[in-house]
Amino acid sequence: MRLLCPKCYEEYEVTDDVIPGEGRDVQCSVCDETWFVEGEPAPLARRAIDPGVFSILQQEVQREMAARQADAQTAIKPAPAPAPKPKLKPKAQSAEPLRAKPETQHKKHH
Ligand SMILES: [Zn+2]
Repeated sequence: MRLLCPKCYEEYEVTDDVIPGEGRDVQCSVCDETWFVEGEPAPLARRAIDPGVFSILQQEVQREMAARQADAQTAIKPAPAPAPKPKLKPKAQSAEPLRAKPETQHKKHH
């Protein structure tokens, strides 16, 4: 497939293997511009898509890729919901550590 640098308009001819179906970032070796190139999973299917719809899909893919990249950069995902029922737990649980104390005193006796 052919790639066109959006900055300096340098053209690159690459094999389809270089660009996966979901697309990838490529970098221009002339001007160092980096841009996203979407893959061509099915040329026939692409022809069936209305050009307007296709550009919307392009935006969707780019947004998703950007989100994925942001995800990879932060690497730390916020916890979904860290046990949302502390209110339901009875106070009896906090009494357990207190029970352990007499045992340690027993050991001192021995
Ligand atoms: Zn370029």
